[in-house]
Amino acid sequence: MFSGRIPFGEGHHDAYRQLFSRIAGMVGICEDLPEEHNTVTLDPALTDGHGIPAPKIDYTLSENSRRMLDHAVARATEVLTAAGAQDVITEAPIGVGGWHLMGTARMGTDPERSVVNEWGRAHDVRNLFIVDGSIFVTSAGVNPTRTIQALALYIADSMKKRLANLFD
Ligand SMILES: Cc1cc2nc3c(=O)[nH]c(=O)nc-3n(C[C@H](O)[C@H](O)[C@H](O)COP(=O)(O)OP(=O)(O)OC[C@H]3O[C@@H](n4cnc5c(N)ncnc54)[C@H](O)[C@@H]3O)c2cc1C
Repeated sequence: MFSGRIPFGEGHHDAYRQLFSRIAGMVGICEDLPEEHNTVTLDPALTDGHGIPAPKIDYTLSENSRRMLDHAVARATEVLTAAGAQDVITEAPIGVGGWHLMGTARMGTDPERSVVNEWGRAHDVRNLFIVDGSIFVTSAGVNPTRTIQALALYIADSMKKRLANLFD
């Protein structure tokens, strides 16, 4: 429906029957890199019900990411065609679906270029730990949840090891 192959109204049922149960899907996930033109800042005007500023997200697809997507679509089309597909419908990037929002508080040893250190503690606030997808350094090239879980275990272990002087 999103690609316009199944119209609403006249022709809907015919188009639906033509495609129904004859479709295989394939998804390519690309590693979007950290780029200075992509930012999350505080919205100057929009607030939530408590008056807290809403996040303002500025994002445009870079040439590098565009080319990765084109490559993924071309290879996936080859695979599907080799498998006997008669018609290949593509959408890149997907308009409606799961975008992985990573890297807004990235991990690193340099306080000028990262938000948390190598065991998850904020460089600027010694009793603040960030343990989620925001500490990734890129979007990752695969689904992120397992890695987020692994980071949670790793950071909890690191905290346990340092309990005596955790906030020094
Ligand atoms: C449609 C969709 C499909 C996806 N599919 C997959 C998949 O198949 N496999 C995979 O690995 N990943 C998938 N992802 C990505 C994955 O879900 C996320 O990367 C992951 O959940 C991020 O975890 P997180 O803990 O960083 O953030 P979140 O899970 O977003 O957790 C943030 C939490 O903070 C809370 N919060 C926000 N603001 C405040 C505040 N001011 N005070 C208190 N609490 C607050 C929120 O309510 C939320 O509970 C998908 C994402 C989407 C959107």
